[in-house]
Amino acid sequence: MTEQLYQAEQVDRYSRQERYAPLGPEGQARLKESKVLIIGAGALGTGIAETLVRSGVGQITIVDRDYVEWSNLQRQQLYVEQDAIERMPKAMAAVKRLTAINSTVHIKAKVMDVRVDELEELIADADLIMDATDNFDTRLLINDMAQKHQIPWIYGGCVGSYGITYTFLPGETPCLNCLLGEVPLGGDTCDTSGIIPQAVQMVTANQTAEAMKLLSGNTAALRRKLLSFDVWRNEYISINVDGAKKLDCASCGPSATYPFLSASNLEKTDVLCGRDTVQIRPARPMRLDLQQTADRLTRLEEGKVESNPFLVSLTTGKHRLVIFQDGRVLVHGIKDTAEARTLVHRYFG
Ligand SMILES: [Zn+2]
Repeated sequence: MTEQLYQAEQVDRYSRQERYAPLGPEGQARLKESKVLIIGAGALGTGIAETLVRSGVGQITIVDRDYVEWSNLQRQQLYVEQDAIERMPKAMAAVKRLTAINSTVHIKAKVMDVRVDELEELIADADLIMDATDNFDTRLLINDMAQKHQIPWIYGGCVGSYGITYTFLPGETPCLNCLLGEVPLGGDTCDTSGIIPQAVQMVTANQTAEAMKLLSGNTAALRRKLLSFDVWRNEYISINVDGAKKLDCASCGPSATYPFLSASNLEKTDVLCGRDTVQIRPARPMRLDLQQTADRLTRLEEGKVESNPFLVSLTTGKHRLVIFQDGRVLVHGIKDTAEARTLVHRYFG
């Protein structure tokens, strides 16, 4: 493409958004100055990332601990068959596709599990956090961190044909800890009942609309209600939850202790949602030589060893162990954490 053509395209690129009066060129310029952290690159994360990157948000950081599998392709809109064949880490596959969509956005990808230390580092560089996780442990961590640093975050969850979303504004709205136990917060995907893509798309449409209002300075247009819906049963409910704000909340009250920032780092073993998979995290941060690991496993002759630049996979009997550069291991075909630990110690010490 000639430089001239490239520049002409750049000028026209956001014209439809700029013509939308509430945004205008000024709102568009604000989007360009914005930095968004997306936690999770599954169904919600890929949808959110694609919309924000196309919209011209200046910087996107996308974090995920997993890799692409065939069962993801039905709804995780940035991934293609080759990503599943190569077991590409989702964050890396996402950044490749997102860069092809809009090369002017600064896109960062991190293959890792988000815990306190990691989140503290990432949040320093964010105006807004988008929740695209699938569990409340991580959400409560995000909630405490967002309150501590006074950064808004947008919750999203979905399962089956159901979706739910809420925009948390520190200092204004109740926080997630306030809402727990007070308001029905379904939508956790730790469920094997399945999911249809439209439930995901409804959630990400609402999450990213709120993100664009917030980032472009249109805060008066924010929804300020908890939204839940079922696209199959045709139910749409919007609830005012302002009354749920607890004055003595440990996460957002005047003497907040941020309880989820201290407890969560101790947990080193996770059972992944509805997947017969256990994740084991190393006790200390590390950087693994994957080539060396692959060579050593091949010499053991205990199963099929496959690798790409980001992970090594060992299939042995009914289990598959996948080790990442940060030392995390996903053990598939297992639910028992003790048994998973035994396998990890056998092959990785
Ligand atoms: Zn609270």
